[in-house]
Amino acid sequence: MSKDNSPLKANPAAAASKNPAETTAAPNFLRNIIDQDQASQKYLRPGLPQVITRFPPEPNGYLHIGHAKSICLNFGLARDYQGRCNMRFDDTNPAKEEQEYVDTILDSVKWLGFDWVYPGPNGEENHLHYASDYFERLYEMAEYLIKAGFAYVDSQSAEEMKANRGDFSTPGKNSPYRNRSIEESLTMFRAMRAGEYADGSHILRAKPSEDAMASPNMNMRDPALYRIRRAHHHRTGDAWCIYPMYDYTHPISDALENVTHSICTLEFQDHRPFYDWLINTLADGGMLQRPLPQQYEFARLNMTYVVTSKRKLRQMVEEGIVTGWDDPRMPTIVGMRRRGITPEALHLFTDRCGTTKSDGWIDISSLEGCIREDLDPKAPRATAVLNPLKLIIDNFPADLSVDCTSPVHPHFEERGLRHFPITREVWIEQDDFMEVPVKGYFRLYPPIDGKPGNRVRLRHGFVVECTGFDKDADGKVIAVHCNYFEDSKSGTPGSANYKVKGNIHWVSVPTALAAEVRLFDRLFLDAHPDAGGKDFLTLLNPQSKQVVQAYLELGMVSAQPEERFQFERHGYFVADRVDSQVGQPVFNRIVTLKDSWGK
Ligand code: ATP
Ligand code: MG
Repeated sequence: MSKDNSPLKANPAAAASKNPAETTAAPNFLRNIIDQDQASQKYLRPGLPQVITRFPPEPNGYLHIGHAKSICLNFGLARDYQGRCNMRFDDTNPAKEEQEYVDTILDSVKWLGFDWVYPGPNGEENHLHYASDYFERLYEMAEYLIKAGFAYVDSQSAEEMKANRGDFSTPGKNSPYRNRSIEESLTMFRAMRAGEYADGSHILRAKPSEDAMASPNMNMRDPALYRIRRAHHHRTGDAWCIYPMYDYTHPISDALENVTHSICTLEFQDHRPFYDWLINTLADGGMLQRPLPQQYEFARLNMTYVVTSKRKLRQMVEEGIVTGWDDPRMPTIVGMRRRGITPEALHLFTDRCGTTKSDGWIDISSLEGCIREDLDPKAPRATAVLNPLKLIIDNFPADLSVDCTSPVHPHFEERGLRHFPITREVWIEQDDFMEVPVKGYFRLYPPIDGKPGNRVRLRHGFVVECTGFDKDADGKVIAVHCNYFEDSKSGTPGSANYKVKGNIHWVSVPTALAAEVRLFDRLFLDAHPDAGGKDFLTLLNPQSKQVVQAYLELGMVSAQPEERFQFERHGYFVADRVDSQVGQPVFNRIVTLKDSWGK
């Protein structure tokens, strides 16, 4: 089932671009279609751009990486063709929708670098739309369809309707109400609106053709247009007790907004005949204007090691498996933001995934690669000791402090130097000492069998030679001892006299800044946690979050929330946007320096 359909070509220009909305995408079938439409002037209309797309989320949950793909695709095409992309909420299902979701969705689209306010011939145009803004128009069009003989009120029970719908191999049966007179349907539809019937007692259905119930396409078998539902709507309140269905609302909303290319995922392919029938029928009746929008389908983004189903994401939040929708391990846009992933990295990733018509899987490692590629040139370097062990330089004077320096960024001298002192006691990583070294270990180990202990360079400082170590009553190593060579300091002529294979990072004990660091990793151990009937909750990675008390280089005291760094030898980290404060930082690991999965 696994098939990688992404070209994943390197695009350093995109990584370096300042404006996240400025990445350049490769050609794809949608761009070819748009090029043809522009050549034939299919959508040449006064005062309107020739490319109008839309991003149409339902405000019933948080956006995830798949939506990021759709956002970057729709807004990206609009940007590249000097058109526009409308931000539209498909808010026709009042029971599941909330203002909270509207707010966070708008915030996520903005954070990705896009905007729905465009300059127009008569000043700024705000293209934030809601399907609920069209309720009155949608209703008028439904009356038109009834009057034209293309819709009727059906009074079958839900069970009867289901039974008469047939299935893929059995044609459906006409409802006994299908030939209700136009006058009766109209009167009943008006009574539905007026609240004269109970929820679910009648529905309005389309009648696309005389033999539509026998159509091989289930979506053409007299699809429902309106149902009675007494539910409070987050925008229209209690003004309506009938609500239009998605398949009715979406094509009309597209047409009313002058959308040209209505881009959706492949599962809507079978809905396209109804989409076309509906808007053409309404245009024939003078209810909509031509040229009409055209629907195009592309393969959804599927990524390994994550689940994106709204239901499963909600389950993980509600069962406390993660700390919330914005848990840094979640594939939600708010989660990825909190993790420290940049909008630029997501643009690079969605561009590289490509836009195709065949389903496939993108490996999460390609997202991780894009994150590294984006952050490497940007992130200032810093030192962090994540699992501290004390190193005591016994021959270093107790009151001495020697200034050391290192570039803020090794490839950009102009960004200046960091300064940090070396003192008699420094923190090093537990990993950088071994009581009994394994073969090929070049870091600190004590004298063994009469041979001296190993020498390493304390990065940007001095070369030291291990002389011994201390253990506590339980046999745990609690300190390592060494001597330093006074003439070995990095950047001085003497340093060349010392050839060592190990080069370890450290932080001076008296100036170290203690901080919480959260080491995040993939949430699941299985590449396809919800495929083939697997129970995704049994496949969680128990190591997906580890919290350590680390020691950081003093400069981190001024880290701003959402500021990102490369902690040398460890990876990329961000000061948490919720819990971190200047003076008291809390860091999240965004990604390690190298991909260590599958090795
Ligand atoms: P639901 O099951 O609730 O409809 P949804 O994920 O389709 O969930 P919508 O709010 O309807 O959510 O999605 C908004 C837009 O994002 C739609 O145009 C949809 O096609 C697109 N989209 C959703 N998931 C993906 C994905 N994995 N890849 C690409 N586009 C996606
Ligand atoms: Mg949907």
